[in-house]
Amino acid sequence: MLLANRTTLIKESPTFAILAEASLMKKNGLDVVVLAAGEPDFDTPQHIKNAAIEAINSGKTKYTPVSGTISLKQALVDKYKRENNLNYSAKQVIVSSGGKHCIYNLLQAILNDGDEVIIPAPYWVSYPDMVLLAGGKPIIATCDMTDNFKLSAAKLQSLITPNTKALFLNSPSNPTGMVYTSSELHAIANVLLENPNILVISDDLYEHLLFDTSLKFQNILNVEPQLYNRVILINGASKAYSMTGWRIGFAACGNENIIKAMENIQSQSTSNPCSISQYAAEAALNGGLDCVKPMLSAFIERHNYVVNRLNKIRGIKCLPAQGAFYVFFDCSEAIINLIDS
Ligand code: PLP
Repeated sequence: MLLANRTTLIKESPTFAILAEASLMKKNGLDVVVLAAGEPDFDTPQHIKNAAIEAINSGKTKYTPVSGTISLKQALVDKYKRENNLNYSAKQVIVSSGGKHCIYNLLQAILNDGDEVIIPAPYWVSYPDMVLLAGGKPIIATCDMTDNFKLSAAKLQSLITPNTKALFLNSPSNPTGMVYTSSELHAIANVLLENPNILVISDDLYEHLLFDTSLKFQNILNVEPQLYNRVILINGASKAYSMTGWRIGFAACGNENIIKAMENIQSQSTSNPCSISQYAAEAALNGGLDCVKPMLSAFIERHNYVVNRLNKIRGIKCLPAQGAFYVFFDCSEAIINLIDS
């Protein structure tokens, strides 16, 4: 009775619920390996930590502009040009307290009650709840293992209604590790060009964790520049630079009004992301990708080991991933075998 109706629409993030349960098990002396959170186990690289220490020692501990410091936003503009061949100005980018926060602000900024958002499944657990919190309706597009867990243009087409407001794309994907090819992205982009009112939320958080190091990362905007005003790129420092706790995410969009609306929401809720973390993120973005390489090598080695071992278990099928640090396997047969035995 005390609580607002919206609180009944959502549940606690399962990731954090499992983490809490695992911590309790550990506290009770159980030896558990916690695979719940999508978090690199490496320390944050030293040059990034040094930038934060320097920020603290030089008093950069005050409020900053709501959407991020001028220098961090410039580092972002430079990153998009250098790494993604995309042109944005400082007004087209925003820094928030994590990629999750960017997505939350964005959905609050674009959704009216009943607007539909297409979410290819398997998906990162927070998407549907964040859509619900913003008054929207998640439309789940189930993508099977036989389709490498990826959304086809035909499936997208079949789910579009006059109420469709946005589509989530996440490549490399949490939780499947799959990566969309340019021709798959092209086919999706063609459907979107015919449906000009649909926005695309391109969640690029795992951009730098591509296992085939000869591949260049591509999002839908790279393959279809006509979508410039309709694609909102979501990214962040958490996964590539092992900075999950620092809480820095960022978003970019050709349409400045969308970024401005996100900024207004941020200005009335959290204000700026942590000033110290912003200086650290600036060092991360400007410091090059060499520090990511050893982590990526370890993820590839672990991935190969895990996929190989999983596929040796009777009743388990596991496709090799192409990026991120997840595997998503089919254990239905193993469960049936267990029940039968
Ligand atoms: N998007 C995806 C697909 C994720 O897996 C995560 C975190 O697990 C996020 C966004 C948010 O990450 P953060 O808020 O740490 O930037």
